[in-house]
Amino acid sequence: MTVSELSTYLDRLESTSSRNELVKTLAELYLKSSPVEIQPLTYLIQGRLVPFFEPVEIGLGEKLVIAAIAQAFATPADEVAKLFGRLGDLGLVAAKLSAHGSSAELPVTEMHARLLEIAGAAGAGSVEKKRSLFAALLKQVDPNSAKHLVRIALGRLRLGIGDPTVLDALSFARTGDRSLRPVLEGAYNRASDLGLIAKTFWSGGEDDVNALKVTVGRPIRSQLAERLPNPEAVIKKLGLVAVQPKYDGIRVQIHKNGSVVRVFSRNLEDYTVMFSELTTAARGLKDETLILDGEAIAYSKELEEYLPFQLTASRRRQHGIEQAALELPLVAFVFDILYRNGRDLTELPYEERLALVDEVIAGSTVLLPAPIIKTDSVEVLTKTLLDSISQGLEGVVVKRPESKYQAGARNFNWVKLKRHTSGELNDTVDLVLLGYYFGKGKRAEFGVGALLAGVYDAENDRFATITKLGTGLSDAEWRQIRERADKLQVEQRPARVDSILVPDVWLKPEVVVEVMADEITPSPRHTAGKVGDEPGFALRFPRVVSFRGADKGPEDATTVKEIAQLFRQQRERKQPA
Ligand code: ATP
Repeated sequence: MTVSELSTYLDRLESTSSRNELVKTLAELYLKSSPVEIQPLTYLIQGRLVPFFEPVEIGLGEKLVIAAIAQAFATPADEVAKLFGRLGDLGLVAAKLSAHGSSAELPVTEMHARLLEIAGAAGAGSVEKKRSLFAALLKQVDPNSAKHLVRIALGRLRLGIGDPTVLDALSFARTGDRSLRPVLEGAYNRASDLGLIAKTFWSGGEDDVNALKVTVGRPIRSQLAERLPNPEAVIKKLGLVAVQPKYDGIRVQIHKNGSVVRVFSRNLEDYTVMFSELTTAARGLKDETLILDGEAIAYSKELEEYLPFQLTASRRRQHGIEQAALELPLVAFVFDILYRNGRDLTELPYEERLALVDEVIAGSTVLLPAPIIKTDSVEVLTKTLLDSISQGLEGVVVKRPESKYQAGARNFNWVKLKRHTSGELNDTVDLVLLGYYFGKGKRAEFGVGALLAGVYDAENDRFATITKLGTGLSDAEWRQIRERADKLQVEQRPARVDSILVPDVWLKPEVVVEVMADEITPSPRHTAGKVGDEPGFALRFPRVVSFRGADKGPEDATTVKEIAQLFRQQRERKQPA
């Protein structure tokens, strides 16, 4: 496949406003690609060169891209900048200036390899090297390809293709339906690398995909927790449970392969350098290979106190890492082990895995075992929950002692119980901002009056609206929203957004906010949970509690399924059986 063929597909994918079309077009693109091409292609359509968990960013800055365009098309840099001011998109600038671009047929695999070389350039003279390499690439492609190439290099490819859409498209390409999605998703949950899965599927089929194993160095999708309203409901549903404190920090998966240690966040970012004390502690463990799962939290040893989430979150930084590590050291409470010395442990009962955790990290002062209490008593569970809260923790997580680790699943093997026990909705929800309305009166000053927010429909890889948001934000936060929104503004409703309401401005689904509300009500105006003529769900009296940082991407927001469950729980509480 050539770069210009790919670019034609990127145009089609960009202008699609239906999710089904997105899947079909992507499947068509896949059908045209060979096993060698499909891996780089899969990364490229998500604006990447490598899987998300590999910290390779093309990330050329605007200034460098302007210089490269100037060099490629022998145009003065200030003229390129002027054109950029007029067109607002360097991709369009490159397309315009390369009007007589080359007709040479560059293969996609070669473009990918050369972009990798640009991303890898480091050290003295690397800026010039990146510019020259990129200019040479630009010169070799047609105008439309130059447009996409620039957007990829800037990290601004706006296709909005989520992982489930890629999995559906792969299945669709081979079978004409979504029937292979579960097989592909299973492998994805174990390996987190869509390119690898695509390549394996193309070259070896379903059996080879099934044979993809848990591997050190490739993160496993995190097991997640369900919610239940109170200790009574937990014991009624689960019986005997293992109860653990719920630490309000950041989920970390620690991979040790000899002396090479990597730390991944829940949405696959690499925290190896940022959370260096965890990396060092894991390197010192005796076992050769390990995958540990836990929660990193800033902890004051002097005060013997867990510090609030915001302080832990402040450790996610690119600069001043060493100083921050001195001021706010982290510990990690390890609550699971998934792999040890070549053996996949995910099928073992939780109790057995936890016993291994104790053995593996014994003696470490940074990697600490999460304590458990086993009980089937509502009183003991209630007391443990209250104890946790009084220690400044978020609540408890209860786990089925005999359950295996189900990568990527949110089910009742793990249930979280938190401190908000009054009111109808006893937990906050995480919503994705999908659009906004211009403000009136005082709000007009900020340019944003109300936000349109939604939840994630994981099954269909779509975002469905659930509420408008207008309260809970300070003036400064409204301004911040406006600033962020400006960068995410898109001209039409993104293909993955499902909405009856039409806001003044559509946003690319990216920003996640934590929202508290009084209750969930049926609503014909919102699409969350809406099936046919049945109403969807809305939130009553929603207010923004906080912005979620980099730990939650849009696909980590609360799901439609969770909302439906919260609605059922709320109804049961109102009308006890
Ligand atoms: P929340 O916003 O309530 O933390 P979440 O969406 O981040 O929820 P859930 O799966 O719903 O994630 O809740 C489990 C999360 O709680 C885990 O992802 C982990 O980060 C955190 N956690 C803290 N302590 C524990 C523990 N002992 N066992 C499991 N998870 C824990």
